[in-house]
Amino acid sequence: MKYISTRSKIKPVSSAEAILQGLAADGGLFVPEKIPTVSLEEIDALKDKTYEERAAWLLGKYLTDYTADELGECSELAYNWFDVPARVPVMVLIQDPKNPTAPVGAMELWHGPTSAFKDVALQMLPHLMRLALKKVGETKQILILVATSGDTGKAALAGFADVPQTKVMVFYPDGGVSKIQRLQMVTQRGDNVNVTAVRGNFDDAQSGVKKIFGDKKLRAELDKLGVKLSSANSINWGRLVPQIAYYFSGYVELIKANQIKLGDRILICVPTGNFGNILAAYYALKMGLPVKGMICASNVNNVLTEFFVTGTYNRNREFFKTITPSMDILISSNLERLLYHETNGNFKQVKHYMDELAAKGQYTIDDKLKARLQRLFHAEYVTEDETRLFVKRVYDSFKYLTDTHTAVAMTALSKYRGRSKDFTPVLTASTASPYKFTSAVLTALGQSIDGVDDLAQLEKLNVLTSVRVPRNLAELSHAKILHEDVCDKDEMAERVLQFASK
Ligand SMILES: *Cc1c(COP(=O)(O)O)cnc(C)c1O
Repeated sequence: MKYISTRSKIKPVSSAEAILQGLAADGGLFVPEKIPTVSLEEIDALKDKTYEERAAWLLGKYLTDYTADELGECSELAYNWFDVPARVPVMVLIQDPKNPTAPVGAMELWHGPTSAFKDVALQMLPHLMRLALKKVGETKQILILVATSGDTGKAALAGFADVPQTKVMVFYPDGGVSKIQRLQMVTQRGDNVNVTAVRGNFDDAQSGVKKIFGDKKLRAELDKLGVKLSSANSINWGRLVPQIAYYFSGYVELIKANQIKLGDRILICVPTGNFGNILAAYYALKMGLPVKGMICASNVNNVLTEFFVTGTYNRNREFFKTITPSMDILISSNLERLLYHETNGNFKQVKHYMDELAAKGQYTIDDKLKARLQRLFHAEYVTEDETRLFVKRVYDSFKYLTDTHTAVAMTALSKYRGRSKDFTPVLTASTASPYKFTSAVLTALGQSIDGVDDLAQLEKLNVLTSVRVPRNLAELSHAKILHEDVCDKDEMAERVLQFASK
C-alpha cells in the first residue's frame, strides 16, 4: 500500500517513507491510497489473540512494506511492558438500570510507561522508524527533537530510549511544568536521550525547536556528523496507525465480556484534542468494524463542537486553560485527513480549506460535506464544573476513578444519550491514569490540595481511594536525577550540536 498527500497530487510513497518524512513535501498529511477492509470473521479471530498479536495484525493491513515478523517484533517491544496482561483492558462500567443493554466500556489506554494514551503510539513509532531507516537505505542517525509542555516529552523519551540509530532530545520550559512532569523527564535513563530546560515559557521552547528545524546551516553541520533531524508529533502516520488497533481490540473485548455479539454496532466516544485518537476510530469504521458513529467530546475549547454543528471551523476565539490540558487545542491537525477522505480525495478542496485556516483562522465546509460528517460524528462539549462533578459521581457510585479527560468523554456521552435517546453500547477511550492529573482529581473529590506538593498528592489520592499508583509515578520520589542542564533560548542550537556529536 502506498501513501499520498491530502493537499496535492504527489508521487505515492511507501509507508516507511511516509513515517520518516512525517509531513508530505506540499505541507499535507500522508493518507493511505485506499483504506483496507476486513471481514467479521477476521474480527472474530482476534478474540483468541493477545494485544500484541492484534496490533501486529492491524499494522499489517497498512504497513505492507514491513514483514509480519517485523511487525510482530515491534509490537512485542512496544507493549510487553505495559503493566497489565491485557495491555489495553476494557472495564464495563455503567449499566443504566433502565437500559441494561446499554453498556459503556472504558478502554484504558494508559497502562504504558508514562500512564497516558500517547504511549500506545509512541512506544511503537521508534521501532517503526528504526526499521524504516533500513528499508529506505538511510545510514544516518535520526535525532528526534521535541518541545514539550509536559506529557509528550516524557512519552517520546520513554519510547525512543535505547532504540538503535535514534537519539531523542527534549526541551521543556524551566519552571513551566509540574514537579511530577519534570521528575518524569529528568530521571529518564538511556544512552541516546537528552533533556534540557530552557529559560522561558513553552512558546520559547517551541519556537526555538522550530527555528532549529529551519536552520539550514545547522542542518548541514548535523549532516556532516551523520545526523538527520526528525519529529515524532501526532500527525505522523506511524503514530496514527497503532491507534486503530485498539478499537478492534476493544470491540472484541466487549464481545468477550458478553456485552455485545459479533456484528452488533457500537458507538465510540473519545475525548478529543488534535483529532488523532478519534480519527483512528473513523479508520476502524471505514475498515469494517461495526461502528454506528463517533462522539467527539471537547472541553470549553469547543472549536470542534462548533465545527460539527455549524460547518464552520473558527480558531479565532478565546483560549482557555483547563483541567484537561491535553485537550486545550484550537487547531486539530488530524481533521485534515477526515476532510480528505470524506470529500472522496478532493485535495483541491482540502487545500482551499487549509489555506483559509492559515490566512483567516477559519473556513466553512459546504453543506454536502457537513451532512456527511454529521451522520458520522456527534459533537458535545463539557464545562469544568461538569467534569469535576462527573469524576466525583462515578467514584461515589462505582468506586471507579477516572481522570478528567475521560470524565469529559463520559459526560459528553450522557449529554448525547439524553438528547438522542440512543442507547447503543459504547466504547469510550479512557486516555490517562487518574494519577496523571492528581490535583484536579483530588479537587473534584472535594479534597483540599493547599500546601500539598505533587508527590504528596499521589499518596493522598492513594490513601483516599486505595487505587494503585502506577509504578512509574510511585518510583519517582527516589529515582536518580540524570539531566540538570538549563540553557537560554539562543543556546538551544548549540546544545543540539553538542548532543549530536556525542
Ligand atoms: C493527547 C490526549 C488527548 C487528545 O487526543 P488527540 O489524539 O490529540 O485528540 C486526550 N486525553 C489525553 C490524556 C491526552 O494525552
